[in-house]
Amino acid sequence: MHVLVMNSGSSSIKYELFDMDHATTLASGLVERIGEERGRARHHLGDDEVTEDEPIPDHDDGFRRVVAALDRAGLGEELGAIGHRVVHGGERFAEPTVLDDDAVEGIRAQIPLAPLHNPANVTGIEVARKLRPDLPQVAVFDTAFHRTMPPHAHRYAVPVEWYERHGVRRYGFHGTSHAFVAKQAAHHLGRPLEEVDLITLHLGNGASATAIAAGRSVDTSMGLSPLEGLVMGTRSGDLDPAVVFHVQREAGLEPAEVERMLNKQSGLKGLCGDNDLREIEHRAEAGDADAILALATYTHRVRKYVGAYLAALGGADALVFTAGVGENSPEVRERVLSGLEPLGISIDAERNAVRAPEGVVAIHDQHSTLSVLVVPTDEEREIAEQTVAAVTEQPSTG
Ligand code: ADP
Repeated sequence: MHVLVMNSGSSSIKYELFDMDHATTLASGLVERIGEERGRARHHLGDDEVTEDEPIPDHDDGFRRVVAALDRAGLGEELGAIGHRVVHGGERFAEPTVLDDDAVEGIRAQIPLAPLHNPANVTGIEVARKLRPDLPQVAVFDTAFHRTMPPHAHRYAVPVEWYERHGVRRYGFHGTSHAFVAKQAAHHLGRPLEEVDLITLHLGNGASATAIAAGRSVDTSMGLSPLEGLVMGTRSGDLDPAVVFHVQREAGLEPAEVERMLNKQSGLKGLCGDNDLREIEHRAEAGDADAILALATYTHRVRKYVGAYLAALGGADALVFTAGVGENSPEVRERVLSGLEPLGISIDAERNAVRAPEGVVAIHDQHSTLSVLVVPTDEEREIAEQTVAAVTEQPSTG
């Protein structure tokens, strides 16, 4: 079966077409700057690369370009299903869900919980259902893997009606990635997923840590929204909530402005002006004080979560690094784990030099009681696999 995976953002559509029978990628691409003066669509079709530099007024036009590109390459015919990445599934969606009108309404109902993400996901779903009503379509939720968190991990210590009426609780995100690397790690360890305890560190532009007991998420660093937890490219991560009221009062900022600044102007960018870790590493090497501080703050936060989750789990079989930074930065991995020998964690400098591995690479040394693994993530592939599983279980759609 061929499965198209779509990740729709507010001004972009990222896609990848998989041949699930041969575990290969047939095509991929990015439609960006939708609704802006100058749009761009880039399609990788086998060895061909096609770029369209034209205005793309809306997602409808953007998706038509994807369909047209696949058709031109003769890849549209065999399409068996479309899998959509959806950021927030709230309390309703614990599983990948075959989309009918009711499910789409259910996703729309989560918009108050994810006003920055779900609207674009819904738009992508609507456009794809309109243009390819013949195909089963599945929503795969970033929150779903974390639905196994026990209440003591997902509840905040706030008035109970905030939870009951307004859904205020920890949901967690990046679930597709944490689930994918957990499976890969268990496979590498030669053990069933249901028997392994892991701490997975997804360190990309967004970043989150997850504690996994017996293969299931039991705690994660992102919360009601993807803003909580680790220091990220442009998001603050953990913060005293009083900071929000303080800057509203003292700097005269409106709530929406504070929200925007915590999401877009904070994290590494807030600390040193850059959000690309490569650039920050270069600056730090050259002695730039802001970059040195940003790197130290970033890695200190990850270390704290490793310690917290080791305690929460009562020990673990392996620590997993993944995503752009986790897979590519020996320096970050070294800083996060140096000096943790008393906790049973010790890495091998030579093995840790690995960047962009094709598969799982172990970087611990013989003294380490925990395995430390670098595992390339592939969220699109995981969405494709979950899409196939969902349509095979329930072939009829609304
Ligand atoms: P996204 O969350 O957008 O999918 P990625 O997982 O691609 O992000 O991660 C992006 C981050 O990975 C950026 O901060 C980038 O600087 C970092 N990164 C990519 N390659 C390297 C590298 N070789 N060394 C250090 N950081 C890297």
